[in-house]
Amino acid sequence: MFVLLTNDDGIEAPGLLALASEFRSRHEVAIVAPDRERSASAHAITVDRPLRAKKIEHAQAPSWAVSGTPGDCVKLAITTLLPRQPDMVISGINRGPNLGTDVFYSGTVAAALEGVLFGLPAIAVSLASYAANANYGFAARVARAVAERLIGKPVLSQALLNINVPNLPDKEIRGISITRLGTRRYRNVFEARKDPRGQIYYWLAGELVNEERSDRDTDIAAVAEGKVSITPLHIDLTDYGRLPQLERWLDEPFDI
Ligand code: MN
Repeated sequence: MFVLLTNDDGIEAPGLLALASEFRSRHEVAIVAPDRERSASAHAITVDRPLRAKKIEHAQAPSWAVSGTPGDCVKLAITTLLPRQPDMVISGINRGPNLGTDVFYSGTVAAALEGVLFGLPAIAVSLASYAANANYGFAARVARAVAERLIGKPVLSQALLNINVPNLPDKEIRGISITRLGTRRYRNVFEARKDPRGQIYYWLAGELVNEERSDRDTDIAAVAEGKVSITPLHIDLTDYGRLPQLERWLDEPFDI
């Protein structure tokens, strides 16, 4: 298959390079990724300034470094840069997990989601570690194995899979769980500091509150137990359960 690789940690991130070397051994690969780290950019796109796409000639796969967000990269790749439509979009391997409600902020997940908006299957893959010597090799093999399962299945043609891999030696990974998104909450979200001119500024520095240990079917619980978590995500955010209740509102006219 022909896969588009992207990420939100920037084109030089070790997780992206690990994906590229893993996929290159069996598949055709192109890389279109941000020219710098764009973590936590969610699904932002650039509309108020031009985008530059720099072709990287020394790379082992056709590669472009784009001066935009992960979402920009996937849009530009599919519509403009790539010689043909890829079969799949793979985003990652992110430095750090993308679990539970954090997926709303994740540039890694948003890049995969952009692939789904183009009608393609897509995988976001994240490693639950920020360490420089983290084990990206195993996560890359997981991504490749899942991609090979996903390809060519009509029922999964627009599937979005969010994969999180624990940072453990390969032999200590305790299997794979299919999970739902958990809930992540943070404490002390903003730190107030003083700049050299005496003005207050705020820095987002939340401390994770690890609740939900009892819910064993979540992505958070799976990774905490040393398992690879695979969560299928929906791009349709409609809350179908509340539709009937809201429809009943229309029985009485609004005071407009
Ligand atoms: Mn990131």
